[in-house]
Amino acid sequence: MIDGKLLTEKLIVYAQEFLGLNDLDVIYTKNLILGQLKLNAPSKTSLTEAEKKEIASLAVPDTLIEELMAYATENNLASNEIEADLFANYIFGILTPKPSEVNGAFMSLKEKLGPQQACDYLYNLSIKNYYIRKTAIDRNIKWDANDLDIPLEITINLSKPEKSNKDVAKLLTQPQGEKYPACPLCKENEGYYGTLTHPARSNIRTISLTLGGEEWGMQYSPYLYFDEHCILFSKKHTPMKIDGKTVERLFDFIEMFPDYFIGSNADLPIVGGSILNHEHYQGGKHLMPLQKCKAFEKYKCDKYPDTTVEVVDFYNSVVRVCGFNRSTVQALATEIISAWKGYTDESVGIIADENGVKHNTVTPIARF
Ligand SMILES: [Zn+2]
Repeated sequence: MIDGKLLTEKLIVYAQEFLGLNDLDVIYTKNLILGQLKLNAPSKTSLTEAEKKEIASLAVPDTLIEELMAYATENNLASNEIEADLFANYIFGILTPKPSEVNGAFMSLKEKLGPQQACDYLYNLSIKNYYIRKTAIDRNIKWDANDLDIPLEITINLSKPEKSNKDVAKLLTQPQGEKYPACPLCKENEGYYGTLTHPARSNIRTISLTLGGEEWGMQYSPYLYFDEHCILFSKKHTPMKIDGKTVERLFDFIEMFPDYFIGSNADLPIVGGSILNHEHYQGGKHLMPLQKCKAFEKYKCDKYPDTTVEVVDFYNSVVRVCGFNRSTVQALATEIISAWKGYTDESVGIIADENGVKHNTVTPIARF
């Protein structure tokens, strides 16, 4: 049996060590947790120095999460694994600073030490508060296929959990109302407890940014596909659309975070990602194989003489616009996107539009 009072002490020490829990908030936070664990008083003894040392050496919170899940199950606070997971995430949400505090710390680091230090803060916080599932991600199988003419990096993703048959059956009997949050990318996810059909978001923390004059948010992906894999999401639940505005937002982002690349899924179902009903981009610190590829053709454009246009030697059709002047690169990229969207050449089977259904789009990616 898990000792809930001892577990509470461990959680407080962990939050002081890794999540910036302020001394003034210790009693308050301890009481909140005891309440969730249905306990009326804390442990009479605090942790030994050896126990504290053990907590301070944790790279990930998994052992504490497992204890919380076991406690929830043993004490009928959860009736299945998903509910136990939601409960554990909720407790870590209590241990994590509020969104305003995280934003304040992020912006102050960005100002004083630079954007990468600010990103490091959010990234490490997201690992330590169990939002990024580091242990699950480490199980992914990855290798570099360097013997190909154009090298690739290949990942077999084993980290995303599958629902059990029992859980799926339970879902079918639940009433279908208007969905809240409308999708997994909506800003309303921050602090959301979660359900059997919607993941726990008690512990997600997002950073507010202005991109293209609009309100956007930045978060990390819970199942990172590459280094510091981040997601940008519009604060409005609007469908994906690739145009000049996209290029402007991507450029605004890399100006703020020059160490990260940022890109968008294409806005057509046949080539886009799984979520096309909410405008979002993905990026991170990784240098992708595509970004390392050489050009086999280079062009100059009379209208924008300070730019270069390259056709990249890669597995799919890639046009790369390079330059040192943001406004000309942005303008030319926008022109190429809009020209391509309306381009038809039936001799090679390219038809821009068929019965009102668009065929042409791009996957824009920007980096410094
Ligand atoms: Zn949404």
